[in-house]
Amino acid sequence: MALAEILDRIRAAERRAGRPEGATRLIAVSKVQPRDRIEAVLEEGHRLFGENRVQEAQGRWPELCERYEGIELHLLGPLQTNKVRPAFEMFDAIHSLDREKLARKFAELAQAEGRCPELFVQVNTGEEPQKAGVLPEAVDAFVGLCRSLDLPMAGLMCIPPVDEEPALHFALLRKMAERNGLAGLSMGMSADFEKAVAMGATHVRVGSAIFGERVPAAAG
Ligand SMILES: *Cc1c(COP(=O)(O)O)cnc(C)c1O
Repeated sequence: MALAEILDRIRAAERRAGRPEGATRLIAVSKVQPRDRIEAVLEEGHRLFGENRVQEAQGRWPELCERYEGIELHLLGPLQTNKVRPAFEMFDAIHSLDREKLARKFAELAQAEGRCPELFVQVNTGEEPQKAGVLPEAVDAFVGLCRSLDLPMAGLMCIPPVDEEPALHFALLRKMAERNGLAGLSMGMSADFEKAVAMGATHVRVGSAIFGERVPAAAG
């Protein structure tokens, strides 16, 4: 099935790039997918999933987590301040940390609970006005702020502009991560994950290439 093919293509891209096997983790992006498709991927043995919205994840994953061992959930979509607590409780990693207010909320909860999801800073590498993310020129200061709050910083994340060569954005993200001493690179989706693996992605986020086209009417 599609999952096996995507995993094969990731492993092949790692080999071509001279990277160790397994250097890139596959996040199966299950947002707006019907339950039977998600269960099929769980039955194949995959355990790492990404969701875009806290509420959608809350409606689906508690039950699946009871039935399947070892599920790891990552939040990929924009996070509203009033959803930080449920996100903190439900997700193992957050890929959309993009402002000071969120960082301070996570720090508060981390202090109180003695643990925290792994955090990726979303970078708006294309400097697109409609897109979330810290601007490239502000990344170093923002990572510094997060570190001063003792947050567990995993890396950087980007979503390149649709009409530009993604490899340029992946290269920029990698440079910013390197100069900040961050190991994680969350980049690459269905259309460009092999390029992302070649550029050093540690996490690729693949939805439609695994599950098929998203069918909004079948959400839930
Ligand atoms: C939807 C989404 C993806 C997956 O997109 P596909 O093109 O279906 O692979 C990856 N990352 C984010 C942030 C998304 O919102």
